[in-house]
Formats: sequence, C-alpha cells, structure tokens
Amino acid sequence: MRLSLLALFLFSLQVCFAQEPTKYQLAPCGTQPVIAPMLEAYHSHPGLFAGERSSDTLFVALQLHLLAKDNGIGRISPERLLDAFCRLNADYAASNIRFYSKYDWHLIDSTGWYMHDTITKGIDMMLANNIPDALNIYFASNVAGNCGYNLPYAGVAMANGCAGADDHTWAHEIGHALSLPHPFLGWEGKTYSPSNPTPDTLTFDYTHFHDTLDLVPAPLDTTVSEHLDGSNCTVAADRICDTQADFLSYRWECDDQNRSIALQTDVNGETFRSDGTLIMSYALDGCQNRFTNEQIAIMRATLETEKQAWLTENPPATEVAGPVTLQFPINEQQAPPIGAMMQWSSVPGATHYLIQVSLLQSFIAKAVDMVVTDTNVVLPNLLANKKYYWRVRPFNNWSACVPFTATGVFNTTGFVSSNEPENDGWRCYPTLLSAGQFMSVELPAAWVNHPVKYALYDAAGRILWQNATTPIYNQTILNLPAGNLPAGMYRLSAVGATGLKSETIVIAR
Ligand SMILES: [Zn+2]
Repeated sequence: MRLSLLALFLFSLQVCFAQEPTKYQLAPCGTQPVIAPMLEAYHSHPGLFAGERSSDTLFVALQLHLLAKDNGIGRISPERLLDAFCRLNADYAASNIRFYSKYDWHLIDSTGWYMHDTITKGIDMMLANNIPDALNIYFASNVAGNCGYNLPYAGVAMANGCAGADDHTWAHEIGHALSLPHPFLGWEGKTYSPSNPTPDTLTFDYTHFHDTLDLVPAPLDTTVSEHLDGSNCTVAADRICDTQADFLSYRWECDDQNRSIALQTDVNGETFRSDGTLIMSYALDGCQNRFTNEQIAIMRATLETEKQAWLTENPPATEVAGPVTLQFPINEQQAPPIGAMMQWSSVPGATHYLIQVSLLQSFIAKAVDMVVTDTNVVLPNLLANKKYYWRVRPFNNWSACVPFTATGVFNTTGFVSSNEPENDGWRCYPTLLSAGQFMSVELPAAWVNHPVKYALYDAAGRILWQNATTPIYNQTILNLPAGNLPAGMYRLSAVGATGLKSETIVIAR
C-alpha cells in the first residue's frame, strides 16, 4: 500500500502515545563489525575514487517503509519522520550528500515486522518489501532490540524511538550503508575496562552483515587494536586514519570538549579519551555532529561506484519556499464538529501538507495528525462545543525542514444547530462566508449520480452565480464568488433528484 489520502487518515487515529522503549534502553546500533569490500578497494587504490565530480552534490534515492501493527496503529508520526529527515540531511550537508524519497512513503501493517526481535526477521521484512535502485529504510517499533541496524545487501532498520530532530542514528546507519565501520571496530559486544590489559588483537563475528546474505554463521574475523599515535591506523579497527583510537562499544557520555569521560589506554600504554563528535561512534546524540574528511571520501566513493544506482543527476524537486498561512477557520471562527472545512495557502515547491488539530495548545495529543496533498481538507470527526488549535507544515520528497504555521484557533459548534443535516441528508456550511472560503455541501443520497443545479440569488431575486454537476459522492465543495459580491444576505438553491433545497447565506467582509 503506497501513501494515499485515504491511507493517511490512518494517522489521525494516533491520538495516544505508543509506549516504545527510549533510545537509552536500546543498544545503540545492531550493525555488526565488517570491513566492506568497497572499503578494502578504497584503501588499495584511493586515487581511483577521486573523480572530477567529487565536489558535486550527490542526490541519493531512499525508499521509506513505515511499519505499524496489523491494525494500522503505532506508525511513526509524520512530524517525527519529517524532523528526522531534516536532521539526516543536516548531518550530511558537509558531505554534499542529499537524500530524497524516491516514491511516497510505503505503509506496511504487520505486527510481526513492526516488533521484530531478531535480525533474521528483519531480513525477511526487507527482502519481501525492498524496491530496487534506492536505499530502503524501515521504521518500526522494535528492530531486534537496537536503535538501528544496516544490512549491506538489504537496507536499514530504524527504531521509531531513536529517530527525531536531535537523533543521529539514521545518519549513523546510512554511514554503515555507505561502507563506514564503527571507529571501535572489533569491540562490538565487548566492554572495555581500564583494569584489564588492552589486547593486541580483537576477533569479531559479522554473520548477516556481509555484502551478501549469510546462510550459515560466518567465521570470526580478526583486527588489531588501534594505537593512539595512528601508526597502525590503516590496518586497525575501521582502517580510517582521521578517526582516532576508540574502544567504547556502549552508549557513552562526553565532556564539554565532546571527549569521553572514560579514559582508555592503548597497547603502548598511552592514555586517551574517545572523540564523541563522530556520528559513527557510540557517544550520546548530543556529542555527535560530524563525519571526518576520510569518512566523507569513502561514502562518496561508495555512491559513485557500487551504489551508483541510488544516484540521480539533477535535484529531484525544488525547495519548499517557506511556511504556509492558515486561512480558515482562525481567530476563534466557528466550524461544525463533523465536516469542518480547513483551508490554508499553498506554497511553491510543496506537494504535501501535514495538518495537526488538537484540544491542547501544546499539540501533545492530537485529534488529527494527517498528511494531505491539497490545501484544504474536510475533517470527519471533532467534539462539539470545544476550542481547537491547528497548524500546517508543508513538505515535499526532499525538503522537510519548513516549520509549522503559527497556531490557528477555532471553536466547534454544537451538534444541534440550524445547519444540522435534514432527514434526507441535505446540509451546507458554513453559511457565513468570507472571500476565498469554500462551502461544504452534503447531498441527499438519492442525488448521487444525478444532475444537480446550484444557483445563488441576491435579496432582489437576481441570479448571481450558477453551476451544474453530476456528483459521484454525497459530499461536495462549492467555490461561491464571495470575494466579488457585496457583504449581505443571499440565497443558495440546489435542485436535485428529489427536488429543491435552499439555504440563506451571509457574505461577510
Ligand atoms: Zn553502528
């Protein structure tokens, strides 16, 4: 199921919070140590990879797969996903690598995959859903107990709880997908202790993390322990020389210089603290902020060679030009609890809009949390006689950093009102119109698939506007010329299969 307007109504059901483990309860990353063949090739022939395009921005296709339970509940919220996507591109800005969504978000409802407790279940999920020529990313509640992991032959799995505006897990896992190991390679699954002698060599198990699918457990591999002085940096740990020695394979805190609190000793007896600025380290998110020059060169070389199929030549879209403006209802205007019509301005570049409606000014719990492609939407179900807050955020397949509008406020009317649907289903609202505001019309079921004629009359009975359609649904929207008419009272009539309906309309300035 790809993202469609109807599918997106599923988001509006997410009014309560999923109880998910936080990133502090999860292993930072489940990607096992491995030296990618690409990394070997890069080290053997670094000159080969310095092509003339090497400073161009590389546009990389992603396919986002958003998992939920079988009943559609629990998917990552659109807001959180947009924040995470904005952060991902910020983390790669210095690399001149820009990620975009090749196709719409792919929504998958499967409790088993949504909460998969083993890597092998994750492999099944990816091999069943991957699309070609893009880096496939899966957002789920439990990804084998980790914040994330990368399978070189399949894709990246991300825990929803480790993705957001201030999280670098997504950038870290894509670093793996672009051939980067951890700077502490060999220490995965082991805990460094200053009271034990530092070993000369480290063995590691990378079953499932080869470039191709492992059908039997892989043999253990061996690396040497990195020296602080860099003398063995081309063969030790990540084999990258501008990432210094690091033995910390647990989530660690940094000091105000972004260095580890934990002091380590290399095999030569030299002491050091790990560099927490590295996104490929296990430092807390607040310490991390960069890839090194050599890491950037390796990621770009990977994209320009073995992952060339993920690249596109030109920017895949234009930037979203800026925030939108709420048009109606705002400033405590009234809206019906069922079928409220919300309108906002369009903005160049935007293809999608996230709309949130809440009883709380903080939006901490949402009545509506939904993505649409138009600049208006009819809300199916709000509470009567309540004050609501709402806001809208525009985005497209690669520009996700534009903020929400200022918050608008409106009040819902009671269910019993003059524009309550009649017995046969006729209703139109709002009956107080401003320039540019649309009118929602609900038609008797018997009118569907038959011609309907609308007319607007002034107080003297002159016809000012007419329209005729054959509706295929029992709901429609009329664009009356409210902006071209003087303020005052008017009469709207509609003639359909069972006769005439009419309503008094007030046009306001
Ligand atoms: Zn990792």
